[in-house]
Amino acid sequence: MFNCMPVPNHSTHPNVNPHLVEQIAQRKPSALLPEDYVERLLTGDRVALGRAITLVESSRADHQKLAEQIVAQCLPHSGKSFRIGITGAPGVGKSTFIETFGLYLLSQGRRVAVLAVDPSSQVSKGSILGDKTRMFELASQAQAFVRPSPSGESLGGVARKTRETILLCEAAGYDVIIIETVGVGQSEIAVHSMTDFFLLLLLPGAGDELQGIKRGIVEMADLIAINKADGERKGLAMRAKREYAGALHLFPPKSSGWAPQTVLCSAIENLGITDIWKQLLSYQDLTSKNAYFQHNRTRQATFWLHESIQTHLQDLFYRNPRVQQHLQAVEKAVLDGSMTPFRGATLLMEKFSDPDKID
Ligand code: GDP
Repeated sequence: MFNCMPVPNHSTHPNVNPHLVEQIAQRKPSALLPEDYVERLLTGDRVALGRAITLVESSRADHQKLAEQIVAQCLPHSGKSFRIGITGAPGVGKSTFIETFGLYLLSQGRRVAVLAVDPSSQVSKGSILGDKTRMFELASQAQAFVRPSPSGESLGGVARKTRETILLCEAAGYDVIIIETVGVGQSEIAVHSMTDFFLLLLLPGAGDELQGIKRGIVEMADLIAINKADGERKGLAMRAKREYAGALHLFPPKSSGWAPQTVLCSAIENLGITDIWKQLLSYQDLTSKNAYFQHNRTRQATFWLHESIQTHLQDLFYRNPRVQQHLQAVEKAVLDGSMTPFRGATLLMEKFSDPDKID
């Protein structure tokens, strides 16, 4: 998607070739050099940023190559944001919350980028987070950038692209990056492993059950916010707060040294938002002092290195002509019970790894 927001005032960046703005807007993405994108992107130009993300998301080989070069050149300028993961069941108020919270952050002089990880398209060919015009007010602010989830991909693909998009947004000067995901699958784990802080939004009065949110997700949270704590729901919200605060006590201490809290908020009535930001800042302060913040980033980078290797290997494996030639027969043998899955995998690995093997 091309982000056609007005270009920020580039007159404040006299070193930038003004014609680049038009070139980026008009030319085919691959007709420009990576330096052209990076030069504009570093000035905070949302058009260039949007285009660069489109390249990251593209499956075309030439786009991917260009994207790789852009990301590599942006890398030295990245890493300086606070990366916040936000999850919660559909309807809990994620987009409303992010809009209110994002506008508050802008009022604090922050620049906010909102990204999403929504791999649901894989199963339903539709998205859970929705294509509705979300966070309209936030998206129209000059200091904000809102981008929907890359679509039509496996979780692994979406996660990789989002990770690279984070780097691009950071290079473009966004100092708070919010990554939204929906609390119904594996996507929280991916988002948790690419963010510094994980915020779980819950509803009041949804009973003792964790609203379809798995215990593991509650355990990952650095903060639980009971949203919609307004009107008639206030009492229920306070009860939910006590219950979750009790539940949090049962988990082992976090290696960050941070003790997660439960707070109340109302995204619609703009209540509890300042408090939530204070919690985030306290977390940042604590984990910067005890060095967990940086340690966690390094650990995440290693994790994504191995994830990427696995994805590449898997790709190579399934594209291998010898594997393709034998895969169906092996699947059939495993299905009718004449071969164990382990033996089948070994056999296919042999086909894959022995280029001299004559079939
Ligand atoms: P999402 O699916 O989690 O992104 O949820 P939405 O942000 O789309 O919100 C779902 C519904 O809840 C909408 O009708 C919102 O207006 C409503 N909603 C969101 N936040 C609040 C809140 O703080 N209080 C109340 N009363 N309603 C809210």
